Amino acid sequence: MALHSVKVAVIGAGVSGLIAARELQKEGHNVVIFEKNKRVGGTWIYDSKSDSDPLSIDPTREIVHSSVYLSLRTNLPRHIMGFLDYPFAKRESGDPRTFPGHEEVLHFLEEFAGEFGIHGLTRFETEVMKVESKGNEWLVESRRLTRGNDSVSEEVFEAVVVCSGNYVEPKHGVVPGIEKFPGLQIHSHNYRVPHDFKDQVVILIGIGPSSFDISRDIATVAKEVLVATRPIPDLNMKLENVRNICFHTLIKCVYEDGLVAFEDGFSIHADAIIHCTGYKYHIPFLETNGIITIEDNRVGPLYKHVFPPSMAPWLSFIGLVHKETIFNVVELQAKWVARVLSGKIILPTEEEMMESVKDFYQFMEENGFAKRHTHSLRPFQSDYKHWLVEQIGLPPLENWKDDMLMECLKNILIERNEMYRDEWDDNHWDAIIQNDQLHKN
Ligand code: FAD
Repeated sequence: MALHSVKVAVIGAGVSGLIAARELQKEGHNVVIFEKNKRVGGTWIYDSKSDSDPLSIDPTREIVHSSVYLSLRTNLPRHIMGFLDYPFAKRESGDPRTFPGHEEVLHFLEEFAGEFGIHGLTRFETEVMKVESKGNEWLVESRRLTRGNDSVSEEVFEAVVVCSGNYVEPKHGVVPGIEKFPGLQIHSHNYRVPHDFKDQVVILIGIGPSSFDISRDIATVAKEVLVATRPIPDLNMKLENVRNICFHTLIKCVYEDGLVAFEDGFSIHADAIIHCTGYKYHIPFLETNGIITIEDNRVGPLYKHVFPPSMAPWLSFIGLVHKETIFNVVELQAKWVARVLSGKIILPTEEEMMESVKDFYQFMEENGFAKRHTHSLRPFQSDYKHWLVEQIGLPPLENWKDDMLMECLKNILIERNEMYRDEWDDNHWDAIIQNDQLHKN
């Protein structure tokens, strides 16, 4: 039984919201989840529709939450996309691959929600419009999205856990002349299928995981695919199986007739430009009188990416971090939040938390980490997880999980090896996992 049971609102029923709700419920809290979609799964719910503005700049656009494209397979093995007591196991009649398609992840999340009674806690098709602090409580204003019933309600909660996702509000780079480009421009958030790009010359801006996948997807039908990127010193590409993808430096200028000139001196007439330039944090419903700000993609101040010191533990954020095994990290964050709320774990004082946040920001500055990378855990991802594990009092995590993540990142970001999912050596990794279990027992 919980030491202290709290009425808590969870915003979002994606991976973060589902595990948060499970952990809060386990601790005996009274949980209500608000979810604007009709079902659980968040970003893993593929939608053939996309934002009404293909660049997702217009603030009045119709927004589609998911950024998943039809061909998407996970970029991490299923071994590190499950929860501690609920692995993402292969199932009969499912997609058996180690890196399955997106439908398999959605199925896993739906099963998880069913197993732990999450659907019953969730108000579907209900969008949170405002979260505002009222003394010792939080006022949550929400709007029903069902046709013929767009009623607005207000409800008071003792605590709010924000799990609303980070891959909806696109970021765009500055490219001279791009506004004059006559062809199609979209952000990767709105990419779904390659056939619109048949026989075209397509330029992708950016070299992250979305560009990695989408460039290959489009190369199956396009005439030529060019990836524009900052020079990356240790890039060691393996592109044996793709003949029509090449890499160039950043774009120097785009002209009215569709000519695109790169900084390396190369130029070409392009039909389409896809901006694979990432996302910005965007939490439009949160009103904290300036206590929490989003500046240069830093949501702050937050103690360990989760608690704003002056509002802890009554407001928390799960899933802001990235460059990690997200399923593992959000589970640990969720356990931490649930136990802090029940009083099992005591946080440092507000002053101590603020001091820790300042130290972290200073460390970033002194070591040349840009502010916009505040929530990127690389290269300290395992330190963060191990710190959470200690707080919660769990046994140490298995090292092979970090090794698997590093192997995937090497394939995606350094070697650009488009075959890594199919070349993955299951036997090698199974032996490592078994060996680890033997040492534990
Ligand atoms: P989301 O899944 O975005 O869920 C947020 C939920 O909040 C949504 O359901 C949304 O409808 C709801 N919501 C938002 N605002 C409101 C509101 N105001 N009111 C009510 N509801 C609201 N991770 C991996 O581990 N492996 C991968 O292979 C992988 N591939 C990825 C591929 C792509 C293209 C993207 C974008 C991400 C990928 N990720 C991957 C990371 C992925 O985002 C995480 O795995 C995880 O899905 C994040 O879950 P979340 O719950 O934090 O956010």
